[in-house]
Amino acid sequence: MLVLQTEAGFSAAHRLMNHQGLCRHIHGHNYRVVVQVECMDQAIDEKDGFAIDVSVLRSIVMRACERWDHTILLHHEDPLVGLLNAANTEGIADSVVVLEYYPTMELMARALAKLFFTKLGGHLMCTDFERVTVSVWESDKSCASYTFGG
Ligand SMILES: [Zn+2]
Repeated sequence: MLVLQTEAGFSAAHRLMNHQGLCRHIHGHNYRVVVQVECMDQAIDEKDGFAIDVSVLRSIVMRACERWDHTILLHHEDPLVGLLNAANTEGIADSVVVLEYYPTMELMARALAKLFFTKLGGHLMCTDFERVTVSVWESDKSCASYTFGG
């Protein structure tokens, strides 16, 4: 089994509106997103030595991270979504990203793993892979990993 890995990062604010502790308050993280793609040995092209095109993988990961960089990640039922959109002082509504799921590292890892698996599968240069694992690091010490695929 061959494992290819790349990583990117972004800075964002979030809050977990139903959390009983401090996480219910708006706060931020410098997230690290580490992506591993597993390929069977036969996926390696012996003529050129490549399995999948890592530059394609890297651009997919970078694009996803850029979409969340310097934003406020909120659950779609969070009342702050309506408040920030209504106020829109100094364009603050532009920084709000509304998610269908709670913006925890667990659910972000799952959403990104499914997204990357799907996007990679759509590229001719990246068809021979088995699984995608995404680890979302919220701090130096805590991360959640999710594996999607066969
Ligand atoms: Zn947090």
